[in-house]
Amino acid sequence: MKHCCNKMNFFIKESKLAIGYNAKFREYFIDLKNTDGKQLICFCPWCGSALPESLLDLWFDILEKQHNIDDPLHDRDKIPDDYKTDTWWKALN
Ligand SMILES: [Zn+2]
Repeated sequence: MKHCCNKMNFFIKESKLAIGYNAKFREYFIDLKNTDGKQLICFCPWCGSALPESLLDLWFDILEKQHNIDDPLHDRDKIPDDYKTDTWWKALN
């Protein structure tokens, strides 16, 4: 199973609710109304499981230290393909 429970799998796949998953940063979030903002969530609303920690800081860290990309949000062309999906953190284990 990709996520913590069937309901999480279902709603992320179906996009019927404002809940989402960013595989690149391993982040679960709820879209904020009337903005592009997102609110990260720490627990599954259905089964109550603790969701894995966001890897956002680690993503910036590794790109800076191992790939010499100081500002990946403005240097998107330099980001290796593995770092645009969940491939980079799945390879860590
Ligand atoms: Zn769940």
